[in-house]
This record gives sequence, structure tokens and C-alpha cells, in this order.
Amino acid sequence: MESTTPAPLDLEAAAAAVTEPSRDCPRCPRLVGLREQLRVDHPNWWNAPVPILADADPWLAIIGLAPGLQGANRTARPFTGDRSGPLFWGTLIAAGLAEGVYTGRVEDAPVPRGIAIINAVRCLPPENKPSPEEIRTCRPFLDADLAAMPSLRVVVALGAIAHQSAVKVLGGRLPKAPFGHLAEHAMPGERTLIDSYHCSRYNQNTKRLTPEMFAAVFARAIELRETR
Ligand code: SF4
Repeated sequence: MESTTPAPLDLEAAAAAVTEPSRDCPRCPRLVGLREQLRVDHPNWWNAPVPILADADPWLAIIGLAPGLQGANRTARPFTGDRSGPLFWGTLIAAGLAEGVYTGRVEDAPVPRGIAIINAVRCLPPENKPSPEEIRTCRPFLDADLAAMPSLRVVVALGAIAHQSAVKVLGGRLPKAPFGHLAEHAMPGERTLIDSYHCSRYNQNTKRLTPEMFAAVFARAIELRETR
């Protein structure tokens, strides 16, 4: 009888299968309802959980809140296609954490360098407000993604919800780690969490977050990496 050699295990595909939700992840009924409606209204949009965007072996992870309606929910790429994009990618490119020029288009989007970008909640929530249960339900995916980054040293959390998820996933204690722009928190495993206000259109319009304030977050992340 002819013997067959088993195909080699594709470790990358196996890891992705564990850490990424399926396109039709059913765990959050409210978000699934919105997703299905958007697939009818905008059949050419992504309208699915937005996957992690990462360079190989990242040392820095940036955690956002959730996809924006016209941004990642439409384009499948974090901070691409809406008003958060120019500030987000412009800051990363200036800091050497991404390469390219941000145009808002996926085809020529900047390439991450040494970083990973993940949302605390992978699906679009109504009015950008996930419920506490939805945040909790999606957290295992964030947990699995960060656990698969052996060189991870710094995490930047964009906004209070991302901060809370990051503290929990990194094994810190929330009462000891209050959110604040540029606040730094030592986490287990010699990792540091840095907080930033989210680069949302609202925060930019109200000047709660200026380009200088946002740049300072990533300058500090790079400083922390280089002083280790
Ligand atoms: S938010 Fe996360 S857990 Fe909820 S349906 Fe989307 S991918 Fe699944």
C-alpha cells in the first residue's frame, strides 16, 4: 500500500486560526446584527472582524478601541479610510514605526515596522460604544495575539477602554493603573503600558489630542525600547 507523507504543519496558519476570529464570529449578537445589516447596505465593504495588522516579531503593540464605520470596518485595515488615519499613520511614519505615505487607500497603505495594531473589540459597535460584555467577549482574541509576540516590550493603549483591556491581558491590576495620557504602567514580564488619548476625529477636533501629544507617546515608547 502506498504511504502518504503528511503535509508539514503551517505554524503561521495554525497561530492565525487560533488568534483571529472567524469572518462570521457569532459571539456578540448586537454587533453581529449591525454587521449583517451593513453587508446588505454596503456589500463592497469589509463588514467583518478586523484582523490584526503586524510586522513580524513586533516589539510594540498599539491597541485601539474598535473599527470605525468608514475606516477599518470598510477597508479591513486599522485606522485606514477615516479621519483618524492621517494623524495615526502620519505620526507612526514620522517616528519610523511605519514606512510609506498615508493616502487613505488600502492599495498603497503604509507598512508597519516592528509594531502590531489590534483593536480591543474587532467588530464595529453602534456609535463606537461597545458594551462591557462585548469588550469582555472579544478580549480572548487580544490575549492570544499578545501572547504570540515574544519580543513585545511596550504596549500603547488608545483610550480608556483599550487601556482596561490591555491591563487585564497583560496581567496588571486596574486600581494600580489609572488611565491618563502619557501615563506609564509597569506590567508583568518587563512590559510597559503607555496610555494615549484616542486619535478619534472628536479628540482631534476638540484638541484633547494634538499631533504633538500623540507624537510624544511614540517617542516615549521608542525611548523605553532603547533604554532596555
Ligand atoms: S467583537 Fe469580537 S467576539 Fe464579538 S463578534 Fe466581533 S470578533 Fe466576535
